[in-house]
Amino acid sequence: MTRDTVRKFVANEFLPVVGEHFRTGTFPVSCIPRLGELGLLGSNLSGPGLPGINNVAYGLVMQELERGDSGLRSFASVQGSLVMYAILTFGSEAQKQKWLPLLCAGTAVGCFALTEADHGSDPDGMKTKAVRHGQGYLLNGSKMWITSGSIADVAVVWAKLDGVIRGFLVEKRTAGLSAHDIKSKLSMRASITSELVMEDVQVPDENLLPKAEGLKAPLHCLTQGRYGIAWGALGAAMACFEEALAYTCERKQFRKPIASFQMVQDLLARMIANITASQCLLVRMGQLQAEGKLTDAHASLAKAFTTSKCRETVAWARELLGGNGIAADYNVGRFFADAEALYSYEGTFQIQNLILGKAITGFSAFV
Ligand code: FAD
Repeated sequence: MTRDTVRKFVANEFLPVVGEHFRTGTFPVSCIPRLGELGLLGSNLSGPGLPGINNVAYGLVMQELERGDSGLRSFASVQGSLVMYAILTFGSEAQKQKWLPLLCAGTAVGCFALTEADHGSDPDGMKTKAVRHGQGYLLNGSKMWITSGSIADVAVVWAKLDGVIRGFLVEKRTAGLSAHDIKSKLSMRASITSELVMEDVQVPDENLLPKAEGLKAPLHCLTQGRYGIAWGALGAAMACFEEALAYTCERKQFRKPIASFQMVQDLLARMIANITASQCLLVRMGQLQAEGKLTDAHASLAKAFTTSKCRETVAWARELLGGNGIAADYNVGRFFADAEALYSYEGTFQIQNLILGKAITGFSAFV
């Protein structure tokens, strides 16, 4: 039921507008309250007023949103797995009461600001600093590649306080905070990605996330995010497979549907194998998460596997559409571009494999 509800919303309300947003590099902000109404923001989180659906159903939500567009799923992932999760897990009661209902309803937007221009895979090197100042903290620094940055009512900003990474809730219109959209993106075009600059931003005491101390706190949020991305990548692959199948059955060359050619069928068979393997892996990850057994390494395994299979699958789909595969009249070109961001953001493919490598061998190859 969850899958079908999201699929209907995406087909009727999102797909008709996404092409134009991708071309103009904008996000359809009017869909945000609808996502809230449908219970799709933080849908697997449990607590007063939160949807609390199971993790496989949540995965299907991510899958279906990404069958629409990777930017739509990214918005929901950041809002739920990174922002609401951070507040729910590390926040005070007052922070939870103030922000969770608004974020869940889609009447407020959140962003998660960890990456800096010079510190992506290695966030521990971050330069953003907080110092004690009066009844709170003064923040200085800048964050790069922040999804929903310029439309966010609240930013979860990670900064070093006395050398230790801490999380701060920085509210929109706080003096000294500015957001600049990155307009040059060739991937994730129907998504807002911004640079956040903080110059002497005064944050009151009560906006420090009291339970987040050290890099493990943002990394814990990323584990949740990676689980959602892994399901989303499956949705993108499914959307491309379906478009490629329909196209190849319809399109004729040499007086026959191209789907009747052996080499075309070979690609379709490989695509369905990638999708099926991803589905099986993700259902198992969902079961582990329900049992409280999903580790960082599991989430990295899932993200690395399904985003790499997605990247392969969407490239084959694009290939099967020939010249039309790069035309905006079809969806595969958009997914082809977005697959590059999926593969690299919230930890690149290599970083996920290094996390997995550490779990397998006991040796850390990256610290
Ligand atoms: P780098 O870290 O510079 O990596 C470049 C290359 O070097 C990669 O291939 C990488 O795998 C490789 N590499 C680096 N270290 C190693 C190593 N030890 N061993 C082997 N290879 C290595 N961040 C946020 O905080 N919030 C967001 O909302 C957010 N949204 C994003 C949205 C988009 C569209 C994009 C593109 C990025 C977003 N990011 C966000 C940032 C994203 O998480 C980073 O881009 C990502 O973690 C990679 O960092 P980097 O781009 O600095 O690449």
